[in-house]
Amino acid sequence: MKKLSIVVPCYNEELSIEHFFREAEKQVEQVPAVIEYIMVDDGSKDRTLSLLRNLADKQENVHYISFSRNFGKEAAIIAGLQYASGDAVVLMDADLQHPPSIIPEMWKYFEEGYDQVIAKRNRNGENFMRKKVSKLFYRLANRLVDVEMTDGVGDFRLLSRQALNALLSLTEYNRFSKGLFSWIGFKEKIIEFENQVRAEGEGKWNFTSLLNYGIDGILSFNNKPLRVAIYSGLCITFLGIVYLMIIFVNYFINGISTPGYFTTISAIILLGGVQLIFLGVIGEYIGRIYYETKNRPHYLIKEKSQKEKDDDA
Ligand code: UDP
Ligand code: MG
Repeated sequence: MKKLSIVVPCYNEELSIEHFFREAEKQVEQVPAVIEYIMVDDGSKDRTLSLLRNLADKQENVHYISFSRNFGKEAAIIAGLQYASGDAVVLMDADLQHPPSIIPEMWKYFEEGYDQVIAKRNRNGENFMRKKVSKLFYRLANRLVDVEMTDGVGDFRLLSRQALNALLSLTEYNRFSKGLFSWIGFKEKIIEFENQVRAEGEGKWNFTSLLNYGIDGILSFNNKPLRVAIYSGLCITFLGIVYLMIIFVNYFINGISTPGYFTTISAIILLGGVQLIFLGVIGEYIGRIYYETKNRPHYLIKEKSQKEKDDDA
């Protein structure tokens, strides 16, 4: 019999975990596979870890890994995927926004030979601003980035062992999963599910974190933003030269009229602004190189379930 690993990153999910687990258990009954759970505690500050310990004690197929601090969802995902031993992996959130009820369908497509079965959510019930911002982001990102990203498609998906190994072979430190999933390719199937409003606890995204996520996404994939910097620089220089020529000609026709305070100041401000933006862009890339060269691990483990320790020994 084949084995399915369910990987769940958990950060301060004490209110969701048991509910999630009950729900998942109910649904995976219909999946003709051996099931294992890999729960990753991403340095939670609440009772998440002790709940996971209990679950792992009670049930043989529940494994957990606990980080020494909060390393972020991307790190939790990679840890979970590394520890998964199944023929296929389902990656999902703990807050039931990813309904376990579609796991059987995902499995069905996996059996049919798909390597990535991607769950796409519609955005029903989300607030207007969030919808707009997401839409804008995808439009911009797809223009700038070489990989295609679809709105409503997140981390919730099934990966075959082959796709999983491909993903794990990408070892970069700055991980932008959405892009990486798309970058690896393989045979994909998209299935839809109804958007769920988070049942318990708080969502961890606010406007700034979404903006940062967006910038990361664009910068992790290629150097087009640097190219944009070069083009804008060229355009502005060109406009500057045209303007100088106009002044120069004007001088011969009309003589000096008003002192050019306004134009001088606006040129300084404009150029100063543009330069700062692109210094920032360049700085971002250098920052990324800096982080990559440090070659630090994505996460540090504080504690694992007993079974995990046996495996490592
Ligand atoms: N998560 C995590 N580390 C973090 C933030 C979130 O492991 O630093 C987990 C969280 O427990 C949940 C999933 O990632 O299982 C998605 O988080 P959330 O629901 O806050 O995000 P959203 O659903 O808004 O994308
Ligand atoms: Mg959520």
